[in-house]
Amino acid sequence: MVYKILTNLRKKIMQKGGFVNAHCHLDRANTAMYFTEEERYKLLKEKWKLVDSIKKKSDYWTYKMRIEGAIDNQISMGTNTICSFIDIDEVASSRAILAAREVSQERKDVTFCTACQTLKGVLDPTNDLLIRNSLIHVNIIGSLPGADKDREEEHLDKVMGWAKRYKKRLHVHVDQLNTPKEKETELLARKTIKHGLEGRVTAIHSISLAAHPKTYRQEIYKMSKDAGLSFISCPSAWIDHPRREDLVPSHNAITPVDELLEHDLVVAIGSDNIHDIYKPYSDGDMMFELRMLLEACKIYDEDQLIKIATENGKKVLGVE
Ligand SMILES: [Zn+2]
Repeated sequence: MVYKILTNLRKKIMQKGGFVNAHCHLDRANTAMYFTEEERYKLLKEKWKLVDSIKKKSDYWTYKMRIEGAIDNQISMGTNTICSFIDIDEVASSRAILAAREVSQERKDVTFCTACQTLKGVLDPTNDLLIRNSLIHVNIIGSLPGADKDREEEHLDKVMGWAKRYKKRLHVHVDQLNTPKEKETELLARKTIKHGLEGRVTAIHSISLAAHPKTYRQEIYKMSKDAGLSFISCPSAWIDHPRREDLVPSHNAITPVDELLEHDLVVAIGSDNIHDIYKPYSDGDMMFELRMLLEACKIYDEDQLIKIATENGKKVLGVE
C-alpha cells in the first residue's frame, strides 16, 4: 500500500481554497534564459544590478504578458492568492506596476496583490518620486532596506511613513544573507513599535536570525510579538547559501519557523524568484516550498502546515 501522507496534505490545502504564495517577483519570472551561466552564479547583491538589462528591454506589454503567464502557471499548481513585488525604479519606471495593476483588475480567477520593490532604494530623489507616484496602485508597501546601504534606518522611517499615510500594510525584505552581521529583523521590530504600526508589518526572510545565539533569538521573538510582526519564509530562496568559514550556531539556511511558531508568531510562505537570474530552476510550486520548510525545520503538525500554506498568507496580505 502506498503511504499517502503528502498527497493528503495537498488535498486538505486544496479543500481550504488552495495555496497562498505570499511573496514572489512575477515581473521578472521566466527570464532566466536572458542571462549567461556566469551571471547566474553571481552573488545576490550583484544580481540586484544585473536584472537592469531585462528591465530596460521590457515595455508595458512585455511585463503584462510575463505576469499573466506566471499567474497561469501558479494557478495550474494550485495557488489561488498571490502577492508579487513589482520593480518601481529609474530603470523599470512605472511600466511594470501599471501592467501588474491592469492584470490584477482583469483577472477574476485569482487574488493578485502587488507591492513595490525598491531595488534602487527610496532615498534617492528620482526613485523616491517614482515610488510615491505609484503607491496609490499597490496593495502593500514593499521595501528592501539593504538597497539604501548604511542608511537602512532612514529607509525604514520613510516606508513606515508611507504605510501610515496610505493606510497600507508593509512588507520588508530583512536578514537575507544568513549571517550574524545582520540584525535587520530587530531593527524592523523596533521601528514598527516606534511608528505605532503594530500588527501591520511583515518581515520577509529573517534567515540571519537563525545565525545568532539562542538568547538573542529569544529576545527578538519577544520583541516581534510586542511589535505584532508577522513573517514570510521563502524556504528554497537561500538554501543555496554560499559556504563560509565563520562559526555560527548550527542551523539550516532558512527562516527559523519552528521557533517562530513556538512563540505564537504568524508565518506564511512565498516562492520568491521563479525561473529568473536568482533561481533559474525554481518553478514556484508551493507544495515544493512547503515540503522544503517542513523538512528543514521539522514541522510535522498538519494543522500548522495548512495554516502556513493558506490562511496565514491571507492574513499577512490583509485579504482575509
Ligand atoms: Zn523578494
